[in-house]
Parts: sequence; structure tokens; C-alpha cells
Amino acid sequence: ALTAGIVGLPNVGKSTLFNAITQAGAESANYPFCTIDPNVGIVEVPDQRLNSLTDLVKPKKTVPTAFEFTDIAGIVKGASKGEGLGNQFLSHIRQVDAICHVVRCFNDDNITHVSGTVDPISDIETINLELILADLETVSKRLQRVEKLARQKDKEALVEYDILSKLNEAFENEKPARSIDFSTEQQKFVKGLHLLTQKPILYVANVGEDELLEADQNPNVLKVRAFAQEENAEVIIISAKVESEIAELEGEEKEMFLEELGIAESGLDQLIKATYQLLGLATYFTAGEQEVRAWTFKKGIKAPQAAGIIHTDFERGFIRAETVSYDDLVDAKSMVAAKERGKVRLEGKEYMVKDGDVIHFRFNV
Ligand code: GDP
Repeated sequence: ALTAGIVGLPNVGKSTLFNAITQAGAESANYPFCTIDPNVGIVEVPDQRLNSLTDLVKPKKTVPTAFEFTDIAGIVKGASKGEGLGNQFLSHIRQVDAICHVVRCFNDDNITHVSGTVDPISDIETINLELILADLETVSKRLQRVEKLARQKDKEALVEYDILSKLNEAFENEKPARSIDFSTEQQKFVKGLHLLTQKPILYVANVGEDELLEADQNPNVLKVRAFAQEENAEVIIISAKVESEIAELEGEEKEMFLEELGIAESGLDQLIKATYQLLGLATYFTAGEQEVRAWTFKKGIKAPQAAGIIHTDFERGFIRAETVSYDDLVDAKSMVAAKERGKVRLEGKEYMVKDGDVIHFRFNV
């Protein structure tokens, strides 16, 4: 299963946020594909469509879909040189599929900042630089090997040399790999390098509990936004402290508390949705009288693979995917009516599943 890593300097609010995640978190028993590990928190994906489908079908049970956040503690300046838990930290980052970078934007004199003052851009750059230096090492080693072959006009080596030189130059200028536009062909090679700065990233601006309402004008948040914009990265504003309080509430209680705070959606819910996107994940639904359920798939997969997420037998014996889009189903108000309108398609093996598809798989046992 894909996972997003939570990173950030010490004392920025990572643990507070991660605790909110595990508090609000889903029972791992419901999600057997998820990892059981104290550093992994499972979150359910809030999805209004699932509620609407439940109203429509009135099943016995409704099950949301879920995915994982991994808490990656321990980065300090000098990590790429092995300072602190440097090497361990970097190998943990290598294993995640996207990065949520928590940045301290709250002022609190009681809580020490590792570099003395609250300066979100300097914090971001400190971590990014460690990741860039680690990538620089990966790439320069590889470059040395390829250089010789490239001089002998080895065709493949020439292609690789070109890509590696571009990366090397970017890193020397302290730019991440994701800042370079590679062709689809080149991307395949780059992917194989498992670079840290190639992973998709978003920034989490942790503001003080009393700053949540005017967070959009918070000078620290504005700085983070400006920085993120250059990278085409998203910024999610949260107050980790408030999130840990919200996480203890459920249903109506939670809604009332959010109303009191004057916010429509908790920061954590926004973070979950944004991270889901960042990981390239999407949702299809199954909707039967027994159970209405959301399932997570990686965008770009075909119908048999999507069936395999439910059960390997579904993939092996796949015949057809009876598919209707969520919008068409809700418009028609029932599966029968959607069929009458000709909105239910019989899709085959080559069908690429779309976000919001409601699917009934037909398969041989
Ligand atoms: P980590 O080292 O990044 O995991 O940071 P922690 O989550 O342990 O937080 C460090 C300190 O900052 C703790 O004392 C938290 O209570 C405090 N903290 C975290 N978020 C907030 C916040 O939104 N407002 C305030 N005032 N303090 C916070």
C-alpha cells in the first residue's frame, strides 16, 4: 500500500499531528492490507459521495477506504552526513511514496526552536538541502560509472549521462529533482534512481490555535505559500494542537466544535484529501444491499487489477465490470433507473477505472 511520510525539523508539531492521526485513526482490523507499526497511522478518507450512496442504497454496512501516514522522526541539519539519525532517516524517507513536510508557523516562547527563531523558509530549506545532498551523492556515483561508457559512445550510456548531468547540475544549485521537466521516456530512468527529491511533496503549515481563523494573513503562512508556489506544491494550514482535540470527537460533537472554531472542515481532513491526491490515489465504489464501500486504487489501473483489490479471485476470474459513474447513479436515483437510462456500461479487461465509478464485478470462480 502507498504511504505518505510526515517529516519536519524537531519541535514543529509532527508528533502532535501524528497523534491526531492515530487518535482519529481507523481500526487496522478493517483494513488488512495496512501495516501494523507504531510509526504508521491509518486514516479513513472522508468522502461525501459515500454518504450519498449510503442514503441511496440503504445497505447494512458502510465502509470508507483508508490509507497510511508514516511518522518519520529524527531529521536534523547534517543528516546527509549521517548526523543524528541521519542515515536511518533518509532510508525511511526512501520508502515512502510522498512527503508531507510539517513547518512551524506558530509562535510560542515556551517551545524552543532548533535554530533559535521561527523561520519557516529556513526550516524548509534545511530539510530540502539534506535531501538534495543525499540525491547528489546517489547521482554523482552513478555519473562516474556512466561517464566512461558514454565516452565510448555507448548509446544507452549517452542517454543516461545526459539525464544524470542535468540532475547533478540541479543538485549543485540546490534545486530538487522534481524541478526538472523530463520526457516520459527519461522519467522511467529517473524513477529507477529512487531519488528523495523526486517524490511528490506538500507543505503543512502548523499555526497556533489562536491563529487558525486569520491563518491566511499569517506572515509565516504567506512565506510558506510563496515558496510552495514556486514548486507547484500545495500548502495545508492546520493547528496540530487543535487537531489533536478534534481527533477525540466524532459525528455531531465534531461538527459542533468545528462550527465553534468557525471552520468548515478540519485541517486533518483537508490534509488527508490532499495527500490522497498527491499519492495519485482515487476511489471507486461497490454498492450492494449488504455493504456500500469505497476502495482505493492507483490512477491508471485497468478493471481486472481494480477487481483484484477486493479479492485476487476477482482478478483471476474477471469477466466484466458493470460500471456506472457516481453522478449518473445519483441522478437516476437507483441502479435500475440508471440501467433504464442506458448509463450502466459493461466494461472489459482494457477499461481504465475512473474516480467515482460504481462497479459490480462479474467473474468466474
Ligand atoms: P515534533 O518534535 O515535531 O514532533 O513536535 P511536537 O509535536 O512534539 O511539538 C513540540 C511542542 O510544540 C510540543 O510542546 C507541542 O505541544 C507544541 N505544539 C505543537 N503544535 C502546536 C501548536 O499548534 N500551538 C502551540 N502553541 N504549540 C504547539
